[in-house]
Amino acid sequence: MYWLLRPDAARAFEDRGVKHALRRYVSVATNERQANFRIAQLVPVSFSGEESSEELWRLHAEKLREFGKLREELDSGERSFDELEKPEKSLLHLKRTLAWRMLESCEFCERRCRRNRRRGEIGFCGLAAEVRLSSEFLHMGEEACLVPSHTFFFIGCNFYCVYCQNWTISRQVEKGLPVTGEYLAELARKRRLGEGSRNINLVGGDPTPSLHVILDMLLSLDVNVPVVWNSNMYMSTEAMALLHGAVDVYLGDFKYGSDECARRLSKVPRYFEVVSRNFLLAREQGAELLIRHLVLPNHVECCTRRVLEWIAEHLGNRARVNIMGQFRPEFEAYRHAEISRRVSSEEMRRALEIARELGLWNLD
Ligand code: SF4
Repeated sequence: MYWLLRPDAARAFEDRGVKHALRRYVSVATNERQANFRIAQLVPVSFSGEESSEELWRLHAEKLREFGKLREELDSGERSFDELEKPEKSLLHLKRTLAWRMLESCEFCERRCRRNRRRGEIGFCGLAAEVRLSSEFLHMGEEACLVPSHTFFFIGCNFYCVYCQNWTISRQVEKGLPVTGEYLAELARKRRLGEGSRNINLVGGDPTPSLHVILDMLLSLDVNVPVVWNSNMYMSTEAMALLHGAVDVYLGDFKYGSDECARRLSKVPRYFEVVSRNFLLAREQGAELLIRHLVLPNHVECCTRRVLEWIAEHLGNRARVNIMGQFRPEFEAYRHAEISRRVSSEEMRRALEIARELGLWNLD
């Protein structure tokens, strides 16, 4: 039925670029391999919860090495998933323990507000400990290789994009439904087994402020499904470490080539340094990358060009890139003359030409 709505999605796994950049994702979506979180569930960890955070982070780094080795053995067929037993405590238990501790002085993202969200304090994202869901459904409008994509829209965001298309979610005009990890896992299970979702797609707003409950969800989840982290990529290095072994694909926005544009249009400092660092960390984790770049009117030279140059130099065609032309001036965009119109066909033509000149062919 889905394929009637999106015939391109039916053929997407055969696409040369998808195979090149997202090979492991395809093999997890088709159940030939196991999602990273399923492998992390099998890495045994012994801890009581009384240890210092430093000790737990040391243990986490050590267990990530075990995770990497086990993933290699499972992927190569040297070991079989079905023969392995789930330990009482796993790497995922350790991750969620660390995440809930971090919530007491929140540094999930590089804003590093250090608010005690467990005690009800709120940071820039506007969230305390409670995680709230705006909606969840099988999304048919994502990139073809993701469709049908079980998308969770979490309330709240650590950016303030003046042109946000989901501003009722990011700015919390909608209050959303408070959710637990167990509830989210049940939804994911139903959509995967009953309705054939290709993945879990975690978005918002942004999923980063909801990391603690997302890890709770993965701890409870008992079906194989690839996890897609659909984000602005402004996570802290600690949050990146917690995502290592939990997510399979970073579906990351790379919005700006200029920190000045990022500060003015999204109220975010140190944009380029943080986001480019996180794409490199994602690659080091062995995760796969699908990068979205939304072309903004009047920002082709300052932003599009620099973003594409960086991708070409550091990631090449192993990252699949979606150069998007659907910008519409929404929310507060009308207050900024430069972005108070749609992107022109000439700007889109130029953006694609720059990509081609740089040797980027793996475009969605
Ligand atoms: S998620 Fe980011 S913006 Fe929100 S409280 Fe934590 S550090 Fe601040």
